Amino acid sequence: MKKIELPRKVIVGEGAIYEIKKVCDELNLKTPLIFSGNFTKKFVDIIQGEIGGEVVSPDEEIKKNFKNFGFVCGVGGGSTIDKAKIYAFNNKLPFISIPTAASHDGIASPYASVRGGVSVKTNSPLAVIADTTIISNAPKNLTASGFGDAISNFTAVLDWKLARDEKNEYFGDYAASLSNMSAEIVMQNSKKIFSDISILVEALISSSVAMSIAGSSRPSSGSEHLFSHALDILSEKHKFTNALHGEQCGVGTIVSAYLHEIYSHKNEGGWKEIQGALKDVGAPTNAKELGISKEYVIDALKFAPKVRDRYTVFNKFNIEEYAEKFLKECEVIK
Ligand SMILES: [Zn+2]
Repeated sequence: MKKIELPRKVIVGEGAIYEIKKVCDELNLKTPLIFSGNFTKKFVDIIQGEIGGEVVSPDEEIKKNFKNFGFVCGVGGGSTIDKAKIYAFNNKLPFISIPTAASHDGIASPYASVRGGVSVKTNSPLAVIADTTIISNAPKNLTASGFGDAISNFTAVLDWKLARDEKNEYFGDYAASLSNMSAEIVMQNSKKIFSDISILVEALISSSVAMSIAGSSRPSSGSEHLFSHALDILSEKHKFTNALHGEQCGVGTIVSAYLHEIYSHKNEGGWKEIQGALKDVGAPTNAKELGISKEYVIDALKFAPKVRDRYTVFNKFNIEEYAEKFLKECEVIK
């Protein structure tokens, strides 16, 4: 038996934030605890003006006596949304996601990233309010990062197929197609991403929905995500600054697509096209642009297959021995 949980309301568009009162009334939600990031005060003021509630910073120690709240809102970028989502899940409260940037596909998914870890399963947001006026004014590197997270679906789906064929793992055709389509649409529109942000926002929401339908992060998280998680873990350990999640996943997608190409003996991964699309949006395509030293990037690729038990294209190669060679061949390092 499979239990699919999806957001009840998804509002995408200019001025969507002003729909919040209506959405809360329709869902019978009262008295929010609002998690707000550092740069979101003016949007939070609007939200509080509409629905009241109390504002907390995601880094604030959440006191246990927050008993009188009926739901949780997360207003901000990736980490604020994730922390609010986890808090809502732990306290059995409904959650509304209000992203201020299209930086990753957690905006509507039932998964949240935790620092130095992989990701944890939570509930899907009950509603998603994505105001494209706010999101299109987010820093360009956040949008480029979301683009990297969206195109990572290409290799995530290839890895999932590999696990189906070789390990008899459950594979959902519908979830895989939906996830792949999100990547294809943003890829085809790489030159229009900044002028029409709704393309990327909708792709990230579809990508989240694909995970909900699959009941796992498989459709949107494969070997390229293992590479990104490995960089996060190494950055904690060795105290270097990691890049944004989607930026790391974008570079990981180049590596994974390259390996899929060699493995399948055909242009299945299309790593050159992926590299070109990332360049179109100004996203990093190599170690230097990620701002991470070549040595750590090599170490991250060697470590990636061990991050978690997930069968991917990494299992088809001796990564430990050839990491440097592979990274050079797909131009991630010189
Ligand atoms: Zn991701």
